[in-house]
Amino acid sequence: MPSSSSGSPASATLSSRLSASDPVRRLAGIGPKVAERLAGLGIESIGDVLLHRPLRYEDRSRVTPVAELWAHQAALAVVRVESSEIRQGRRRSLLVTVSDGAARLWLRFFHFGGAQQARLAPGTWLRIYGEPRSGAYGFEMVHPECEVVTDEAAGHDILPSLTPVYPTASGVTQARLRDMASQALSLLSHPDFWPEGLPTDLKGPVLKMSAERALRRIHQPPVDADLPALVEGRDPACQRLAFEELLGHQLGLRSRRRRIRADRAPALREAGRGLAPLFAGLGFSPTGAQRRVIGEILADMAADAPMLRLVQGDVGSGKTVVAAAALLTAVDNGWQGAFMAPTELLAEQHQLSLSRWLGPLGVPVWLITGRRKRDAALLAEIANGVPGVIVGTHALFQESLIFGRLGLCVVDEQHRFGVDQRLALRNKSGARQLTAHQLIMTATPIPRTLAMSAYADLDTSVIDEVPPGRTPIQTVAVPNTRREEVVVRIGDAVANGRQVYWVCTLIEVSDKLEAQAAEAAAEALSVALDGVRVTLVHGRMKSAEKATAMNAFKDGRIDVLVATTVIEVGVDVPNASLMIIENAERLGLAQLHQLRGRVGRGSVASHCVLLYQPPLSDTARRRLSALRETSDGFAIARADLELRGPGEVLGTRQTGAASFRIADLVRDADLAEAALAIADDVLVYHPREADILIERWTGAGGTYARV
Ligand code: ADP
Ligand code: MG
Repeated sequence: MPSSSSGSPASATLSSRLSASDPVRRLAGIGPKVAERLAGLGIESIGDVLLHRPLRYEDRSRVTPVAELWAHQAALAVVRVESSEIRQGRRRSLLVTVSDGAARLWLRFFHFGGAQQARLAPGTWLRIYGEPRSGAYGFEMVHPECEVVTDEAAGHDILPSLTPVYPTASGVTQARLRDMASQALSLLSHPDFWPEGLPTDLKGPVLKMSAERALRRIHQPPVDADLPALVEGRDPACQRLAFEELLGHQLGLRSRRRRIRADRAPALREAGRGLAPLFAGLGFSPTGAQRRVIGEILADMAADAPMLRLVQGDVGSGKTVVAAAALLTAVDNGWQGAFMAPTELLAEQHQLSLSRWLGPLGVPVWLITGRRKRDAALLAEIANGVPGVIVGTHALFQESLIFGRLGLCVVDEQHRFGVDQRLALRNKSGARQLTAHQLIMTATPIPRTLAMSAYADLDTSVIDEVPPGRTPIQTVAVPNTRREEVVVRIGDAVANGRQVYWVCTLIEVSDKLEAQAAEAAAEALSVALDGVRVTLVHGRMKSAEKATAMNAFKDGRIDVLVATTVIEVGVDVPNASLMIIENAERLGLAQLHQLRGRVGRGSVASHCVLLYQPPLSDTARRRLSALRETSDGFAIARADLELRGPGEVLGTRQTGAASFRIADLVRDADLAEAALAIADDVLVYHPREADILIERWTGAGGTYARV
């Protein structure tokens, strides 16, 4: 127990030259084994120790006389060992009789060794913390925390602060974590260890608190602290650090933006023929929102600073056409355009649509994916800078692929990629001295604060209009017990010339099991629905097989497509008007919304059946009803944010923005606003603090800040 005011003996010997970014192994008592386990908790540096927030606190600020203990009320006592013996009973245990002079208490240990027994030799003074319960002789504490102290007085010498209980992992004890925290806290008094990162001219009691005070308060709060507030992060100390963290992230993104914007990019203006031939061949007229967003993009691309633009548009809002307009402009200027999709299936589909639209205009559209065999002649053309569109998966940023004249990168469904991946493509720009324009597209509509926090490095365009003639999707939730009715409904839809998706989902993310489930479902449907043409797409199929199945479905030669969640993003078959999602209760809201977005793309009324396995958990019920009530992506995103929290909403791979350590974008929305408001000023007027904050909170030094 670190409640002793004598502090850790090791801390006195710590070098004053330690910095918060030094590895945790530099702390006393941390060997490679423990360091490895700590890494599993996200603790790698000494600074991480300080940012590892306690889960709760225990009041060990008072010594309770043994005679005043209450059953089931954890308490701290100072006692002396009278005797100890091994009891054989049903389970072998070590029973230690202790007393504080006025009353006796028994300590029982089921796991113990010789060393433990020796440590608890008669006459030893102990400070113990545990929960008393009635035992054979009187109160007994099972496995109390025990600290050997020199004498009774030393036992009573305790800090008047609360004791933190940390999130931990196997092999890392609370005592260890507390000792590390107090070592790290003692380093805070060295001025260079944790330089202050908030400018001193900030106003208000929260922002005026020093980082040092905030950290001390979080790890060793005074007994009168408001514990629920500390635990839930509403305490001023937590708020102070949350603000600093939000600001740090914001600064990281903005400074990166500044650096990129300082590069030069090729100015790509609308070429002679303009976009008219593209629009003429579409077979539909772009919506006002699409035209406006295309205009915003072309204005960026015409400048010689790299575009950094995010296009947000709900599922089905028609982002692909917008990308096509940008890509055509790049190629018409004699440059190459890359279009990166998160899955192979989607890359293949984009290649098809783009070829259909751009091919007739003489623009080559190539496909590069990881699985496909490389065509050396094609790679050479790309390396030589032949103008054209290169569609692909993350295989696009493999080192072996060289772009001779990359003028524009489009990243589709950004939420599937991390910030680093986005940068990797940018770095491939090929043409010396010039940086490619970046266009990021996402279908995950997210609330403003979240968007600003996650994409502060990007300008934003919103496609806030869906193409006309769409009918809203009717969504129903049906228990699995009524599966047969659903199958009948599929038969009816097919008889009426409609096409159907049947989506299989599994809890375990195993391609293999998911593929098996899909195969079984396809088999069952073919048997149940005589004469209905059923086929299958899953992640374990070869890409040629997948493409064949998708194309057959697209061309109307297949009625029912049984698929795994590989079809989640982007797949587009307007005649499909019924979707069944199996085990819908297992999926998150955003994913369900994405999946459902595969239907409702044509003019016929569409339906989505959420087939669930009862009983439903409370959250699952709320998810399904949110989905039934609305198909507005923004409303769904808000519900999602409330149900899951921002880290999950943005996807775990959204490194940087979503994984806050202290801040919580829902709870701290007002702090996030405040951080957004001052970020630019801090960059300009407080560059030293900005550097400190970026380094501390974004782990800069990697690609994140230094690009
Ligand atoms: P998303 O924004 O989800 O990527 P897509 O680009 O896949 O959407 O477009 C969805 C469907 O809508 C496609 O079939 C596309 O051809 C069609 N589409 C796009 N824009 C329009 C429009 N203005 N009018 C009619 N259909 C459109
Ligand atoms: Mg799309």
